[in-house]
Amino acid sequence: MARDWIYPSLLILRFLLPNQALRNYPENEVTLLDSMSALGDLGWEAYPAEGWEEISVMDERNTPMRTYQVCNVMEANQNNWLRTSHIPRDGAQRVYIEIKFTLRDCNSLPGVPGTCKETFNMYYYESNNGNVWFIKESQYAKIDTIAADESFTQVDVGDRVMKLNTEVRDISNLSKKGFYLAFQDVGACIALVSVRVFYKKCPLTVLNLARFPDTVTGGDSALVEVHGSCVNDSEELELPRMYCSADGGWLVPIGRCVCRPGFQESEGQCQPCRPGFYKALSMDSYCTKCPPHSYSLQDKASECTCEKGYYRAELDPRSMACTRPPSAPENPISTINETSVALEWGPPRDSGGRGDVTYNVHCRKCPGDGRKCGPCGSGLHFSPRQFGLALAKVQVTDLLPHTNYTFSIEAVNGVSDQSPSPRQLTSVNITTSQTVSVTLMKRKSKDSITLALQGPESANGANVEYEVTYYEKNQRDQNYTVLRTRLNALTVDGLKPGTTYVFRVRASIDGGYGNYGGDIELETSHEDMLAIGDPNQPTILAVSIAGGIVLLIFLVACFVVSGRHCGYIKAKQDPEEEKMQFQHGRVKLPGSRTYIHPHTYEDPNQAVRDFAKEIEASNIRIERVIGAGEFGEVCSGRLKLPSKREIYVAIKSLKAGYSEKQRRDFLSEASIMGQFDHPNIIRLEGVVTRCKPVMIITEFMENGSLDTFLKKHDGQFTVIQLVGMLRGIASGMKYLSDMSYVHRDLAARNILVNSNLVCKVSDFGLSRVLEDDPEAAYTTRGGKIPIRWTSPEAIAYRKFTSASDVWSYGIVMWEVMSYGERPYWEMSNQDVIKAIDEGYRLPAPMDCPVVLHQLMLDCWEKGRSDRPKFGQIVNTLDKLIRNPGSLKQLANSSVWEDPITPELSSGTVEEWLDAIKMGQYKEQFTTAGYVTLDSVIYINSSDLGNMGVTLVGHQKKILTSIQSLQTQGTQVQV
Ligand code: AMP
Repeated sequence: MARDWIYPSLLILRFLLPNQALRNYPENEVTLLDSMSALGDLGWEAYPAEGWEEISVMDERNTPMRTYQVCNVMEANQNNWLRTSHIPRDGAQRVYIEIKFTLRDCNSLPGVPGTCKETFNMYYYESNNGNVWFIKESQYAKIDTIAADESFTQVDVGDRVMKLNTEVRDISNLSKKGFYLAFQDVGACIALVSVRVFYKKCPLTVLNLARFPDTVTGGDSALVEVHGSCVNDSEELELPRMYCSADGGWLVPIGRCVCRPGFQESEGQCQPCRPGFYKALSMDSYCTKCPPHSYSLQDKASECTCEKGYYRAELDPRSMACTRPPSAPENPISTINETSVALEWGPPRDSGGRGDVTYNVHCRKCPGDGRKCGPCGSGLHFSPRQFGLALAKVQVTDLLPHTNYTFSIEAVNGVSDQSPSPRQLTSVNITTSQTVSVTLMKRKSKDSITLALQGPESANGANVEYEVTYYEKNQRDQNYTVLRTRLNALTVDGLKPGTTYVFRVRASIDGGYGNYGGDIELETSHEDMLAIGDPNQPTILAVSIAGGIVLLIFLVACFVVSGRHCGYIKAKQDPEEEKMQFQHGRVKLPGSRTYIHPHTYEDPNQAVRDFAKEIEASNIRIERVIGAGEFGEVCSGRLKLPSKREIYVAIKSLKAGYSEKQRRDFLSEASIMGQFDHPNIIRLEGVVTRCKPVMIITEFMENGSLDTFLKKHDGQFTVIQLVGMLRGIASGMKYLSDMSYVHRDLAARNILVNSNLVCKVSDFGLSRVLEDDPEAAYTTRGGKIPIRWTSPEAIAYRKFTSASDVWSYGIVMWEVMSYGERPYWEMSNQDVIKAIDEGYRLPAPMDCPVVLHQLMLDCWEKGRSDRPKFGQIVNTLDKLIRNPGSLKQLANSSVWEDPITPELSSGTVEEWLDAIKMGQYKEQFTTAGYVTLDSVIYINSSDLGNMGVTLVGHQKKILTSIQSLQTQGTQVQV
């Protein structure tokens, strides 16, 4: 009877339930069981037999639907079970059970007893096995007690709209292969219309060009971390990851893929770039059009190919247009000044499309003496450099006189090396002047003048002939005389007494005269045999023959200066070394530019005005203190002059409270420095005198003073680098000596080094030797002298000459080769003077090439005329640089060239120590058991320290000598 109450409602239900074929499940649900889609018997088990009953009803399409129902409400103690077949869980840890059912309320059933129920229970049982035929009730795990939201109140519902109850429950953390569900009825009237079991997944998705697969959600509410894989033609930028949430949604995307070069993103995929387009980097978003002068013929291009004749430099971005080498520089201009030339040119008409144009200057020379033209070699000096010039100009110095040079200038840019075509060059031919020095030796009588002739310098034994033309001043049209000679002196007779004659000289080397130089005016004496020119004090008048025009200009300039300041005498420079420029108030032809001592000015401020440019203080920016000078701080900073590039400068300032004399002395350095213009002499930028503090501005030398610099980089340079530095210093000194300037304090501490390792001579103050230099010591004759750097004659009787500068240069060589070691180590000044006087000389520093030590020894010749001139030193160093093999033999390898270790083939330790002026350690050596020379040769510096020889200088001296002894021993053995 009870069943009858249910049937009508099921008939209504068939219209409420959708046809199974029409059922649409959400995308993220995977159905494990759906009772409504079972076509045949569901095969569920019901017990006891009078409990749940399977009923088929038809849906609106007459498709049978399987339902179970039970309605034993009239009897008490019901316990009816319905168990599904085994449901494999398919890897899911959490499954959902959706049940649709109807449930009658007990009140609507007439006469039912109080045992009638309105709920039922749902259970599950996990099992790996699909064939379990019996499960005890106690083995089931309860999922929930299910009650209806809506229940029948009447059997015949008429037009009442029935609601189907839908409940969803879930089970988590499943671990076995599958499970059974069970429904327990304890006395209700139920129709179980549909049971669907499903789990949730996060569906396959593509995000940020990464594909994330279908992913089953985790148990409980855990998130599952999933790594995506990049779609075709893309690559991982950062590992793509997402979390699959328990309810089947994707959360928190991290990382991404990007399309490979040659592809761009479109609708979640990577599409190839079209021909004519490219994409160079994965990170670029889109394909872009090929830049100018490039193309891509195929799709998927990651870069475009340059058109013929165009190139791309290694570091050029792919988006940059292809470029080509520049055309040749234009309109070169040369300005020759005796043996130097300033070359300037215009930029190339076509820069090739690049901004990195630099210039290289190539040089060939034709000596003009019949020898073949060839490369210029390394003797020339290019300032700022020969190759890689950023500005369109270069200064070339140290050219040979009377020589044809061809300078070929090429413009290059970042792609020049890639082009097979020859570089386009612009050439400049120049011919340097012959230099003839004409020396007025003496006036033999009132009617003759003797000229000493010398030059050209390059003649090197070639046949030189001089042609002297002279005439009485203002009488040229009437009479002039031409004399020729191959001798170096010429006496012109038959002149009128007390008369001014004009002489002109030109020279020829192996035929072919050069041009005449400027006019030289000389006056015969009134008295016979009046010696006005001492042969030891000749007036040297150098005539630059092919460069006559340049020279004349210079003469005019000198004349202006002399006109204003005639009558001054030189204050400190030694007359023997000087080429006098002024005599009896009349200008004589200068041999070369000559240094003018600031003391020759009555008003020293005028010297500053003449030689130093006044700079507005507002153009200077002081940045930091870099040193202390005699007169105040030395700072670094920047100087920006109108329409000039900003440059780094050193700024010396005169401290407050100075006396007038201090101001004069301070500024004297500027008026000396301002007269020099050479790549190896510190350059004066200008002075500030119109406001306080008074300042001297010079070029900035990044590496500071040479001695400190060398100590800091002990052992870090190649011999060639060291020789290069020495060459620079020698070249600067040659320039100074050519200008008749005697430095007097040449030492590594007074050389400055810039960032290119270029060494420049500095420290030109007048008072410096007296007060500034901490190395200067008082001599017995008074005056302060840096003893260790100074030649014996300068110490003994203040004979400062360029030859004494050469002595100091030898000491600088030693300082350089020993990386800033103190000359004569800890020896006292008195010991140094004595040792030098006795003929001892500094030994070669460690690893010093023998040729360099020999050059030092030459600089330390006792007789000053036996020392090389700076020009010779430059030449010697140039030869060494050209032939580095000559630097291979090290001085320390031969004892016989060690001047400090006497020639000891036998002898006692005591004699040896005496000989190297280390006699004070005799006792220490004896106490330590060193009694024969054989025994000392294995001593090292720590042995010396243990013995009590702790001064590093002494240790070095002893070890250097021991090295020599070792070699001596080796030689004896051989
Ligand atoms: P001075 O008064 O010329 O002996 O200079 C004192 C110190 O200042 C030197 O030893 C250098 O360290 C430093 N100095 C002087 N002039 C310059 C410069 N032009 N560039 C860099 N440092 C310099």
